[in-house]
Amino acid sequence: KRVILKRYVTTGFPTEDHMEVVAGTARLDVPPGSAAVVLRNLYLSCDPYASARMTKQEQPSFIESFVLGEALENFGVSKVIASGHPDFKIGDLVWGITGWEEYTLISNPESLFKIKHPELPLSYYTGVLGMPGLTAWAGIFDVAKPKKGDCVFVSAALGAVGQVAGQLAKLRGCYVVGSAGSDDKVNLLKTKLGFDEAFNYKKEKDLNAALKRCFPQGIDIYFENVGGATLDAVLLNMRQYGRIPLCGMISQYYLEQPEGVRQLVQAITKRVRLEGFLVFDYFGQYRKFEEEMAWYLKEGKICYIEDIADGLEKAPAALIGLFSGRNVGKQLVAVALE
Ligand code: NDP
Repeated sequence: KRVILKRYVTTGFPTEDHMEVVAGTARLDVPPGSAAVVLRNLYLSCDPYASARMTKQEQPSFIESFVLGEALENFGVSKVIASGHPDFKIGDLVWGITGWEEYTLISNPESLFKIKHPELPLSYYTGVLGMPGLTAWAGIFDVAKPKKGDCVFVSAALGAVGQVAGQLAKLRGCYVVGSAGSDDKVNLLKTKLGFDEAFNYKKEKDLNAALKRCFPQGIDIYFENVGGATLDAVLLNMRQYGRIPLCGMISQYYLEQPEGVRQLVQAITKRVRLEGFLVFDYFGQYRKFEEEMAWYLKEGKICYIEDIADGLEKAPAALIGLFSGRNVGKQLVAVALE
């Protein structure tokens, strides 16, 4: 079985209807003489950026469009079941870009990471120990550089990236507040993830007032995941020399006319640094990150909430759910038992 792209997204959000789950045959051996591997996919990650690949990119972009009629691709956790590559043997557990299907032939397996901590839940390699965790680690430690006592705000705080960003800032001794789109998520942030405060942005009539309530002294670091009205309200509440790592702007991705930032002048008068970053620039530091994060997890210093959809048939709905906040924690799809 595989999830294929049926047609490109032309306006607005992708929908389940852009994808189709189809059955077919798969080659389970590697072509003679090739250095390919065949993967049995165990867990597939749902990430907002994957849907950008569902549009036909007219301009050069850092990501390529999916091919119509072929399986979608994204990060996943897999087991090697056939190998022509000297560095990979049958039974190895790996994570990296794979197909949204049961079995995938990877021609260049050098891009895959071997899993060093199989004693931790393997699904974590789609999240806290994978690309989203590395994103949070890079955005917090390389871009924001928090100091003890800094006041930190994280949006989409219960998501794959946000929950790690907030907990890393807590480990640095910061005061951390998160926003999320439901009361259940707010409750989890405060009771399970150790955030000092959290609020449901959908219930707040005035985001500026909500931020003033949570940050009477102002915000030192804003970990930006959503953009739009939230960024404007934050800019009004930043302190001098604050930092805003620009990680994502999910509220803007599917607007025909992005809203724009109205309060940017605040960044000048308050000497605030806004800095975009991409996780792809940090893959060279993955092994360092993996060891640090595995240690935090084993010591119980970081915990991770996952939302696991069961089976490839549920994958299209799981991916689309990210854009309405249906996921409670890191969204992934379980495809096969380990
Ligand atoms: P999440 O797991 O946080 O899922 C997306 C969440 O965004 C939803 O659960 C929802 O939560 C929230 N959301 C959806 N629509 C809106 C909206 N209109 N306004 C406000 N919130 C909304 O996703 P990730 O943690 O994987 O990604 C978070 C952000 O980080 C995204 O913007 C993504 O593009 C970006 N990213 C950037 C990377 C980089 O290299 N710079 C790498 C990885 C991710 P809620 O219920 O709270 O609304």
